[in-house]
Amino acid sequence: MSEQNFDVVVLGGGSGGYAAALRASELGFSVALVEKDKVGGTCLHRGCIPTKALLHSAEVADSARQAGRFGVTAALEGIDVEAVTAYRQGIVAKKYKGLQGLLKARDVTVVEGEGRLAAPRTVRVGADGYVGRHVVLATGSYSRSLPGLEIGGRVITSEQALELDFVPERVAVLGGGVIGVEFASVWRSFGADVTIIEALPHLVPNEDESISKSLERAFRRRGIDFRLGVRFQTVEQRDDGVTVTLENGDTVDADLLLVAVGRGPVTAGLGYEEAGVTVDRGFVITDERLRTGVEGVYAVGDIVPGLQLAHRGFQQGIFVAEEIAGLNPIVVDDLNIPKVTYCEPEVASIGLSQAKAEARYGAGNVTAYDYSLAGNGKSEIIGTTGSVKVIRVVDGPVVGVHMIGARVGELIGEAQLAVNWEAHPEDVAPFIHAHPTQNEALGEAFLALAGKPLHTL
Ligand SMILES: Cc1cc2nc3c(=O)[nH]c(=O)nc-3n(C[C@H](O)[C@H](O)[C@H](O)COP(=O)(O)OP(=O)(O)OC[C@H]3O[C@@H](n4cnc5c(N)ncnc54)[C@H](O)[C@@H]3O)c2cc1C
Repeated sequence: MSEQNFDVVVLGGGSGGYAAALRASELGFSVALVEKDKVGGTCLHRGCIPTKALLHSAEVADSARQAGRFGVTAALEGIDVEAVTAYRQGIVAKKYKGLQGLLKARDVTVVEGEGRLAAPRTVRVGADGYVGRHVVLATGSYSRSLPGLEIGGRVITSEQALELDFVPERVAVLGGGVIGVEFASVWRSFGADVTIIEALPHLVPNEDESISKSLERAFRRRGIDFRLGVRFQTVEQRDDGVTVTLENGDTVDADLLLVAVGRGPVTAGLGYEEAGVTVDRGFVITDERLRTGVEGVYAVGDIVPGLQLAHRGFQQGIFVAEEIAGLNPIVVDDLNIPKVTYCEPEVASIGLSQAKAEARYGAGNVTAYDYSLAGNGKSEIIGTTGSVKVIRVVDGPVVGVHMIGARVGELIGEAQLAVNWEAHPEDVAPFIHAHPTQNEALGEAFLALAGKPLHTL
């Protein structure tokens, strides 16, 4: 039994936790990072990185399938799942090694083991105590299910979906949010018949409605089936498949059911409440400066209510380290965090949807310009359709950007600068975009909103 003192003790080595640890050590603090599995957490090992590798394999499959359209003689002969897995695991392994090296180079003490908040400033791992002047809780999230819907056998979550060693012929996906549509997209590109079941009226229901509708049209064209506005009732598992019954009596037969209904916080049994931390439905409640209410104890990442995104976790981790150092960092506001859904076509957005902008500023005080990618040379060349919608306050700043189309995720950087700097379209319209790029679509929308459209009326 030992006890060690640090300036900062971080519990959980995912995006939020390791970012806090790295920044804190950069600022000169002694740091312990307690991780029970692998540093990098969900994002690196079971989330962002491996799913995007799968989506890239899916994109290559689609390119092979469509090669003739671009004058290239090629054919899709099949999906070698073993090779896809080796490629995916290779990417993760490389990034994991890099992160371990970085933590070592920054002198972060990585403690392997399951930690528990034994007292407000003490994380206990087995018999050993790690006492921090400051403690950062960052224990992340797990795949949730619905009451009565048990995971097992042919009913799987994203963790098992990633590890499948075959391409299912027919898959049902419960949940039309980010994780659901990304897996649906991969499986369709790999040749499966896919049906998405979503209780809300639209796919990606947190996006601007126009974007959700465009995605639905695109998925319909790709042959992805979906049932919207209808709730799941039961699933029956057999040796050869599953039958999902919906509340309206419809049934969906498939080989597998992927449950993608959201992620719950990992906080149970970790001593948080006993130490005085407020926990509501499993989430750790903080103020906007990520303080838990217990002196010196902060929380970051998916355990804090709001957007569950890796880059939110990174930024919150950096924020807390800088807050501890007294640097008075800028509050991380969920509204202005960029969001990308990496299905085909991609969806990317930041800021307010048109409906929310109108609710906040009044319908007469908001204008939107919806630029079709049909007018964008590079989009035409790569064979994608879609749109870039920019929302502004009349005589005021850009408050939302919403995009759909292949590769539009790469355009979100410029969009977030405009929104976060509260730029008026007139300010950014003179900035030049290289031709031909998809970025020009944003430029055209800014020009149009500034009252001087170039390639549009
Ligand atoms: C399929 C999928 C795809 C995703 N794709 C994206 C994407 O493209 N872009 C994006 O921004 N986000 C994506 N996400 C979300 C992203 O992964 C999370 O938002 C992010 O990982 C949250 O970081 P975190 O640090 O809060 O938690 P986590 O990454 O979950 O890390 C928490 C860590 O704490 C550890 N831990 C938990 N309890 C203990 C304990 N008692 N003791 C010690 N260690 C403990 C865990 O082992 C884990 O390593 C995806 C998620 C999934 C599931």
